[in-house]
Formats: sequence, C-alpha cells, structure tokens
Amino acid sequence: MAALGEFELIDRFFRRRTRHTVLGVGDDAALLAPSAGSLLAVSVDMLVAGRHFFADVDPEALGHKTLAVNLSDLAAMGAKPRWALLAGALPEADPAWLAAFARGFFALADAFEVDLVGGDTTRGPLNLCVTILGEVPVGQALLRSGAQPGDAIYVSGRLGDAALAVAHHQRRISLASEELQRCDAAMLRPTPRVALGEQLRGVASAVIDLSDGLVGDLGHVLDASRVGATLQLAAIPRSEAIDHRLSGTERGIALQCMLAGGDDYELCFTVPEARAAEVDALASALPLALTRIGVIEKRAGLAVLDEDGGALPTLPRAFDHFAR
Ligand code: ADP
Ligand code: MG
Repeated sequence: MAALGEFELIDRFFRRRTRHTVLGVGDDAALLAPSAGSLLAVSVDMLVAGRHFFADVDPEALGHKTLAVNLSDLAAMGAKPRWALLAGALPEADPAWLAAFARGFFALADAFEVDLVGGDTTRGPLNLCVTILGEVPVGQALLRSGAQPGDAIYVSGRLGDAALAVAHHQRRISLASEELQRCDAAMLRPTPRVALGEQLRGVASAVIDLSDGLVGDLGHVLDASRVGATLQLAAIPRSEAIDHRLSGTERGIALQCMLAGGDDYELCFTVPEARAAEVDALASALPLALTRIGVIEKRAGLAVLDEDGGALPTLPRAFDHFAR
C-alpha cells in the first residue's frame, strides 16, 4: 500500500458524518450553532506518551481515554458535550494503529453524541490533544466556588484503582491477575460521568472531576470556595484490591492511590444538607454509586480522619507535573 498522506489520513480516519454541526471537518474552520439560552463550555486536555500513558498502550483504549478525559471536564461543569477537535502528533501514519485509535475515540463520541468537527495532524513524538465544546444553560454551570460550610461532600464510583494499576506497572506493588484486569480497565477506560454532571445542575453547590487525586482536586474546591473540609477515610469508596491493602504492609500505597492517585475521572461534589435526599434518588436513577465522604467546614484546611477518628498526620500529595 502506498504511504498514507496527511489528507488521506484525515479523510479516512477522522471525517465522519456529523449530527448537529453546520460545517465540520474539511474547511479552514468549523461552523457551530450553539442553542439559544446556552453558554459554550470549552476545555482542552493534552495527553503525552510516557507521561499520561505508556507508549505501547492499546490504541483503541487510548482513543477512548483521549476523549474521556475531556468529557469528564464538561461533566464537572454540568455541561452537555457537543463538539470536539482533535490535534495529534504521530510518529508515523500506521493505518492499523489509526483505525484502532479512531474506533475507541468514535465509540465514545457516538455514545455521547459528540461531533468531531476539526483538528490538526502532524508528524512528531506521540501526543494527543482534544478540545471539547459543550453547552450549559445560562446561569446553571457547576463551578468549584460554591461550597458552603455544612454541605455534604460526595464522590461518584470508586477511587484509586487507576493509580493502583500504575503502581503495579511501575513494580511498586504486585496485583493478582483479576485485580490487575479491573484496575487496568479503570486506568485505560474511565467512564466520564456526563449524565451525573447534568443531573447535578441545581443540586450541587460545587463540582470538580478527579483527575489528579482527591486531596488535590478537593483542595481546589476548598480554595475556590474559601472553606475547609473533614473527610472520613473509612467512607471513601474503594475496590477490594485497595481495601485489603489498607490493613496490611501496603497501607501507604493504598492511601496514596485513594487520596492522591490520579486518573479516577469520578466527580467530587458538595450538596447542601437539605438536598441530600435528591442525591440518593439520583444514585438509584442513574444508577451509580454516590457516596458521602465528608463535610465542608468553616475553618480552612483539609482533615482526613482515619478508621479510629484521628486525623492523618500527613496527606499524600496530589500529582503535579512540575512538583520537585
Ligand atoms: P489548515 O491547514 O487550514 O489548518 P489542515 O490542512 O490542518 O487545515 O486540516 C484540514 C481539515 O482537516 C480542517 O478542517 C481540519 O480541522 C481537519 N483536521 C485535521 N486533522 C484532523 C484530525 N486529526 N481530526 C479531525 N479533523 C482534522
Ligand atoms: Mg486553513
């Protein structure tokens, strides 16, 4: 087969029929028509080989994750995802790799009715960057800044499995094969909580998605809202793989994964006590585990109480690309 050119590559793998787009891939810019009464919610995320994923990652999983991390940001704003742009640097135009990547990407795009409307394609060290655009009714976006003392703190799903998979691949721990399978799935195929985000409009006082770990990401909510919080370690939802390590010699790693492991892509949100029943109703309607893990406090700072009610003396640090 002749070498695949840039425009042939775009046509073959990234030009798809759109659902709600005036003009998509193929011109100098896309043309979009946001719904009346909505604001555009816009976010961009870059994934770099060797930093955000292992370079030999399954390309289909990478296609999924590249879009999933962006959908998660819109979920955390209470926005409905509508359009995406994909910029990629690829070391080579490998048709099998591209086909698998596109399969993973468009399976998720189709599931959330997102149109891919443009992008950029160059040769270079593997690096993928998605810009996502969504809509949220004026005045209803979910910000980080609305948490109030007394609000209950919730998280969706379970925390720590993706980080546990990374610890295994870095040989810091050794997972049994079924544990590894489930933790790898959490790492490679996170489920963006888009429906939850939309349903939290008018219920949650603040929302963030957990990409860099609970302590750091909740910390952003506390800073933006000028409040503090107390969390109950025992209440934080975790898998069996994390749970049994909490009472053994690997407690340190288990704590690190649960409290500061990145890549969970669950939502952490605060809700006034008077609306707590609505959260329970949401959990059964979705259905999705929504667990109360603590409370917002007037005093500054974050305290995590251990199983005996004592505050953990130090908290694991959130992931930071530039921390030394
Ligand atoms: P320009 O040179 O005008 O910036 P390009 O030649 O880079 O445009 O791209 C041609 C068209 O293909 C544009 O509509 C662009 O948005 C789209 N495109 C390029 N790369 C991708 C990609 N990876 N996925 C989706 N659309 C893409
Ligand atoms: Mg142009």
